[in-house]
Parts: sequence; C-alpha cells; structure tokens
Amino acid sequence: MGKSKKKQKKTAAEPAGTPDPVVETDAGTPFSDALRVGDDFVLADVDPRATPEFDGGKAEGKAALQEVDDELDALQEMLFAGSTAGDRRRVLLVVQGMDTAGKGGIMRHVVGAVDPQGVQIRAFKKPTEEEKQHPFLWRIRKALPEAGMIGVFDRSHYEDVLVVRVHDLVPPAQWARRYATINEFEQGLVDDGVTLIKVMLHISPEEQKERLTERLERPDKYWKYNPGDVDERAHWEAYQEAYQAVMDRCSTEAAPWFVVPADRKWYARLAVQRLLLEHLRALDLRWPPADFDVEAEQERLAAS
Ligand code: AMP
Ligand code: MG
Repeated sequence: MGKSKKKQKKTAAEPAGTPDPVVETDAGTPFSDALRVGDDFVLADVDPRATPEFDGGKAEGKAALQEVDDELDALQEMLFAGSTAGDRRRVLLVVQGMDTAGKGGIMRHVVGAVDPQGVQIRAFKKPTEEEKQHPFLWRIRKALPEAGMIGVFDRSHYEDVLVVRVHDLVPPAQWARRYATINEFEQGLVDDGVTLIKVMLHISPEEQKERLTERLERPDKYWKYNPGDVDERAHWEAYQEAYQAVMDRCSTEAAPWFVVPADRKWYARLAVQRLLLEHLRALDLRWPPADFDVEAEQERLAAS
C-alpha cells in the first residue's frame, strides 16, 4: 500500500491521534460573568428587558443563536464520548422562572438543538402522592443526568423553597432548613462531576400579563393557559422575595445562580445557550483515545 506510517510516541496525557478540543478554552465567559449572582445581588435591580453582553436586536439575536449550534452539538457529543471511556462528568441545567417566563422556549430552541440522545429533560410538577411520602430531594436525585449527559430541569428542587414558601405548603421552620440542605446537596453533585448551571428567567409582571393575554386570544395557545396562573400573579411580590432569598442563600461558589433578563424571548434563549456553551467549553473536553490498536484494526479491516 506504500502509505507511510509515521508513529507518534504515545504519552499518557496526550495519546497519539487525540484531536484538539473544539475550541480553545480561552474564549472567555462573558455571559457567565455578566449574569452570575454574586454578593449583594438585588433581583429588583435587574431590568427584565435588558440584554447584557449583546448589542444587537431580535434579528441579530436569532442569528447569533444559530451560530454556535454546531459547536454545542460537538461539545455534547464529546461529553458523551468521554463517558464511554469512564469520564463521569455531566451537566445539569436548572431552569426556573415565573409562569410564562419562557421555559418551554428554552427547551425547544436551546436544548432542542442538541442531539436528543444526549439530553435528559425532566419537568417537575406538583408532587405526586408517592413523591410526597419522601424527602423533597428524593424525586430530584432520581432524575439526575447520567455520566456524559446534559440533564435539564424544567423547575426543580427550588420549587420547594419558592411555591412552597409563598403558599406555606410546609411550616416555615421546615422550608427554612432547605436552603442549607440544597447547598449541601449541590456541593455533593459538583464533587461528583456535575456541572450545575442554575438559571432564573426573570420577567416583569407586565410582560407576563401580555403573554397570558395572548394565550387567551389564540386557540393554539389555550393549552398553555392555566387559570391558576392568574391566582399566582396575585403573589408576585412574595415570589420575588422568595427568589431573592434563593439568590442570597443558594448562589454558591460551587453552584452559582444566573439571572437572565427574559422579557425578550430571543435574548433569554441566546443567553441560556451561551451559558450552556461557556460551561461546556470550560470542561476542556477531549475525544477519548481509542482503547484498541488503531493501526492493527486498520490492517485487519483492509485485509478483510
Ligand atoms: P408548569 O411548570 O407551568 O407546568 O407548572 C407546574 C406547577 O407545579 C407549578 O405551578 C409549580 O409551582 C408546581 N410545583 C412544582 N414543584 C412543586 C413543589 N415541589 N411543590 C408544589 N408545587 C410544585
Ligand atoms: Mg404553567
């Protein structure tokens, strides 16, 4: 065959034939930096119509969303590929927000662009009778992504300090203990190889009213309307306080929160996508080296 077979020397760190990561990891983390909840964070000071780290308008935002689809796809595949070689790492994107904040759009336009085989989406509703028999993290633990997967939570354990707190669904002493329980739980996840990305979609009450109005005007949106959403609107302030408490207590070094202005749907989608992208890039993923002799296999195949 006359093909030159140059043999590179293998080292443990860089086996021959290990391709470069998809991007250099010094691409920066502008969205993570701009949206991360730090000390002295005040939710009421966040403008839901703002578009941090993005200068363009809707058309540019939609175009920008498509620009990194391929990279996101490749990174997800690398994450999964790594798991076949024993890499335990996984990603968990937690999405919270008031009704109509746009969680569904995140699932469709951001998560939906990733290979469905690599994604585990789970929506948390009012606990079932069975779930109520267990501690609040029981159903959460069962839904955690496996190694190599991107898990997405549409609502989460945070409901147990949000709706539960607003409506006194358990005594205050009980929900008050949960912040520390959550922090401990999340630290454990991070120690176990989970990259947690906790996102709050932050909308204004005016924008919510518009979105609910639209749901009532369009027969193709009736199914999204829930009369209970109007009742919840009456508790807007209590919810904002509950979210503020979450940001105060549970935006930790290991698992910070990100608050995404969400009155502009296109921006919220772009921002969540970039948060996901930046976190995946930071994992510095590599294609796993072959666990077989590549040359020997090539020869065997050619001879077959
Ligand atoms: P949606 O996400 O709009 O389909 O609505 C799901 C509903 O389930 C919301 O009203 C949540 O507040 C509610 N929910 C989710 N988790 C809990 C929980 N742990 N306790 C009580 N209600 C919850
Ligand atoms: Mg709803």
